[in-house]
Amino acid sequence: MKKELDILLCDLDAFFASVEQLDQPELRGKPVIVGGDPAGRGVASTCSYEARKFGVRSAMPLKKALELCPLAIVVKGNMARYVEVSRQVRAIFERFTPDIEVVSIDEAYLALKKGKGLQTAAAIHMAVKQETGLPISVGVSSNKLLAKVACELAKPDNVKALWVEDVPQLFWPLPVRAIPGIGPKAAEKLKGLGIKTVKDLAQCSQATLSKIFGRNSDYIYFFARGIDDRELEQEHDLKSISEETTFPEDIYDRQDYLPAVIRDLSSGVGFRLRSAGIKARTITLKLRFSDFTTITRSKTLPDATDSERVIDKVALALFNRHCGKAPWRLVGVKASGFDTEEQLTLLAPSVEDEKEKQLLAVKDSLQHKYGSAVVVSGKQLKGFHKTK
Ligand SMILES: [Mg+2]
Repeated sequence: MKKELDILLCDLDAFFASVEQLDQPELRGKPVIVGGDPAGRGVASTCSYEARKFGVRSAMPLKKALELCPLAIVVKGNMARYVEVSRQVRAIFERFTPDIEVVSIDEAYLALKKGKGLQTAAAIHMAVKQETGLPISVGVSSNKLLAKVACELAKPDNVKALWVEDVPQLFWPLPVRAIPGIGPKAAEKLKGLGIKTVKDLAQCSQATLSKIFGRNSDYIYFFARGIDDRELEQEHDLKSISEETTFPEDIYDRQDYLPAVIRDLSSGVGFRLRSAGIKARTITLKLRFSDFTTITRSKTLPDATDSERVIDKVALALFNRHCGKAPWRLVGVKASGFDTEEQLTLLAPSVEDEKEKQLLAVKDSLQHKYGSAVVVSGKQLKGFHKTK
């Protein structure tokens, strides 16, 4: 039987924008957009709550964001600084539990002994505020789904619990999009069937759900009831490591934006592989189009790798071959087929490989020791767009 735990979802509020407001007091209280360039190209990476009031959202094309909020202050962003702060926050989490699933730079699930969740959430909220000055929201429940929903309800800068017994009162009135995996297009389709809230979904028969969602209908059936038995995914027992970004707006830009996103995702995957001491043989690119069809395309390499350069090269080549027609809604990069033993290569490593290996070893040791302020490459700084 599965051990009963309390699960927390800790999510820093408007993370990149909050860091900018912390570091530059003149930005506080103002609509701030992080990302893009002054010419209005690129995508808003994160926006402050003041900008959100105008309808600006993360991953929205900057041009559209500035139409909605012309007075917004656009800040280029400093990924090295964000990684540094993220590590500082992660170190706070580690004081409370070793069982942590890092979801992204500003989001993590924590598992705690049953009964400890709420008090720990309050303690984390306070410690993050006092030690970093940043707002964080924490959702508390007995599973990942409800912890995530509770966190959304807590936002901004608060703590909220949502237990299974609260589901009819607090979860059911929410729109169907409160369920992870149900995006705008699926919500639209459900609306056409008269299904608007989570309660409407909970009242659908399994047969109806199966007609709408196909093989995903089981998880929708349970999620609508607040039931979720997914365990925390920690890197030592993972079968794959992946990072993905969903855009709230369709993305048409194939030249500038998507390669930058793929590079960024590859870099995250590479770092996590090296941290876990594993190498992967198979690189997979995931793409979702605006009609919600999703494709994955993989390439298996002759030698396992943990190099972000190799991962990026493979992922980008897969993209160039299989990108289909714009616009895109989601892009993801996954590494799998793990190989923990050092493989003997028949060919001598190239000078470039050796140089990169040494460089990455230095980079990772610095990153573990001091945080990442010193080690993010110039290239990475340009394209750090991650969905917040
Ligand atoms: Mg966040």
